[in-house]
Amino acid sequence: MACDAADLAKWGAYLKGHFLLTTGRHSDQFLLLARLTEYPSAVAPWADQLARQLEPYQALTVVGPAVGGIIPAFAVASRWVDGRILFAEKNDDGTMQFKRGFRLTPGERVVVVEDVVTTGSSVDKVIAAVNAGGGKVVAVGALVDRGQEKPHWTKWGYEAVFRFPSGSMPSWEPGECPLCQENIPLTRPKA
Ligand SMILES: [Zn+2]
Repeated sequence: MACDAADLAKWGAYLKGHFLLTTGRHSDQFLLLARLTEYPSAVAPWADQLARQLEPYQALTVVGPAVGGIIPAFAVASRWVDGRILFAEKNDDGTMQFKRGFRLTPGERVVVVEDVVTTGSSVDKVIAAVNAGGGKVVAVGALVDRGQEKPHWTKWGYEAVFRFPSGSMPSWEPGECPLCQENIPLTRPKA
C-alpha cells in the first residue's frame, strides 16, 4: 500500500480548503492524521515503513507526545519484539514530562515518534523530557513532515526520518493569504 498523499486523502487525513493552522498562519492544505490513525489497518503500513527506517538506530523504546504522537508511537513500537512505548504529557507551563509512572533506565536509547512535524515544537519538548528522564534520543521519526525549515533538533544533530516529507505545503500570514482575498470561509478542522 502506498504511503503518500493519495493514501492520506483516501482516509480523509489530507484536506484541501482554507485553514487556520495552530501557528496562526493560513494554508490551502491541512493534515488531520487522526483520520489515518483512526483505522489501525490504515496506519499499519505507515508504521511498518517508519519502523524499518528507525531500525538502524537500535532503540526499542519509542516516545511520543500526547495526544497526537501516542498512536503512531504505539504502532511503531508494536512492530518490534520487546518494543516499548511511553508518552510525555504537557504541564501547565507548556513543558512536557513523563507521568503515570513511566521511567527510563540511564542512557536508554529512545526514538521520538510524532504524527506530523511542522515547527517541531512538540518534539523539542519530548526530547527535553527524555533528557530529564535520563534517556538518550537517537533519532526522531514522524509519519509526515510539513515543516518548511529544518527544525531545531536536526540542527542539534538528531537524525530525523519521515515517512512522507510534504515540506512544500504553502502557508501565509493572514494579511498575505490569497484565499482570504477571495473571501473563502476560514475553517479549523481540528476544532
Ligand atoms: Zn486566509
